[in-house]
Amino acid sequence: MTAHSTLDRTPTSDLSAVPYEPSAEGPGEWWQRAACRDRNAELFFHADHERGPSRAVRTAKAKAVCGTCPVIVQCLAYALGNREPYGIWGGLDEQERARLVRRRVS
Ligand code: SF4
Repeated sequence: MTAHSTLDRTPTSDLSAVPYEPSAEGPGEWWQRAACRDRNAELFFHADHERGPSRAVRTAKAKAVCGTCPVIVQCLAYALGNREPYGIWGGLDEQERARLVRRRVS
């Protein structure tokens, strides 16, 4: 993927049409521009015991960062393509990504 591919967009509320972007080599160059690059990964991945309000607050904070991210589309495409099972990617949590995949399959 190049820096000026069709995935190179600003954040959008319509992520339902994001293509899958499988990669066996990990995130691409877009990662260099990620809004979360210098953030603590714990904001984006829940601890084993985390439930309820604490999880909801952390998730909301992570999604707020994603909402400012210039590579939100690339990130979600990567997560969908690689079936990332955990964490917030492209502004969506695990359940939201799974729903998106199910909608496309059906
Ligand atoms: S969309 Fe969110 S998780 Fe993905 S790179 Fe941007 S800030 Fe990080």
